[in-house]
Amino acid sequence: MGQVVVISTGGTIASRWQGSGFAADARGGDVLATAAVPEGVGVRVVDLMSVNSARLTTRDQLALLRTAHEVLSDPGVDGIVVTHGTDTLEESAFLLDLHHDDPRPVVFTGAQLPLEAADGDGPRNLHDALLAASSAELRGHGVLVAFDGRIHAARGTIKVRTLAADAFADPSGSPVADVEDGRLLVHRRPERPAPLPLPPPAEAAALPRVDVVMHHCDADPLLFEAAVGAGARGVVLVATGAGNATPEVVAAVEAAVSRGVLVALTTRVPAGPVAEIYTHGGAVDLAAAGAVLTGTLRAGQARIAVLAAALATPGTDAADSVPGTDPRTRVLRRLVGAPAADAPAVSAPAAA
Ligand code: ASP
Repeated sequence: MGQVVVISTGGTIASRWQGSGFAADARGGDVLATAAVPEGVGVRVVDLMSVNSARLTTRDQLALLRTAHEVLSDPGVDGIVVTHGTDTLEESAFLLDLHHDDPRPVVFTGAQLPLEAADGDGPRNLHDALLAASSAELRGHGVLVAFDGRIHAARGTIKVRTLAADAFADPSGSPVADVEDGRLLVHRRPERPAPLPLPPPAEAAALPRVDVVMHHCDADPLLFEAAVGAGARGVVLVATGAGNATPEVVAAVEAAVSRGVLVALTTRVPAGPVAEIYTHGGAVDLAAAGAVLTGTLRAGQARIAVLAAALATPGTDAADSVPGTDPRTRVLRRLVGAPAADAPAVSAPAAA
């Protein structure tokens, strides 16, 4: 019989009406009671917290990472389900995936409709997550997301719909498995970098600030520079297109990198990789200024990669060395799957 531990953190799947709106307040046992447990699966609940996921802090996410690690220290456990708000599920799931050094599945799930909704999606999602977490077929597939009959890899998967039941997808990839008639159909095994060691227990003061700044028409570098001025150790630049901004933003990135700030480059576009194609403020110049291109990761997960790289290399300072070769940048490149050197993704046209 499979043994699954459900770590309950809140979200809509644990939400009830509060008089003016919905908010998480239910405990994990109440959430579990809504779902059919797959035959032969034994379940134990760990109540970690019950909050709307937009309120989660890095400290909360590290507590979740540590709790999952402790649960897996029991060899009698076959897998973990994390019930989580959908708003930031992609961030917590990716943080756990980057540190997941165990073949047993960790499966995140949640709901678009609250706990007591008639025909809510929570019960089905939780059933499917329990099925996936107890499945021998999904061992070695890393951290997963079970939602609306699909099982996605944590890496690359984002919330793509604010209200509809099929809330999650990897816009640049495809699901790992489907659940059909209560059975798993596994399609592929996600590619993952070597896992990071668990970060040391950190005091709040030691946790690095990592900000996200989006580019748009008429944007100047003020908000980017404000993030650096506020003490950010990392900034994710959400650029336009394949990763483009302006010469002024490039100058701000160069100055930040020279001060030891990790800068990651992603895009506002839902699907496809960022790529070094354009100059005059484009990704060619941003990469030359020291920004790390984050492939197909979108802002929330790019931020988690920067955070994880910073936590994995305590005491290192990118300002001490040539940008692009310091330990934190090397770890970040590995986590995002970027090439070690800044090789152009598109070759220059041959000289006439
Ligand atoms: N606001 C909720 C949360 O992320 C949304 C959800 O769970 O679907 O906690």
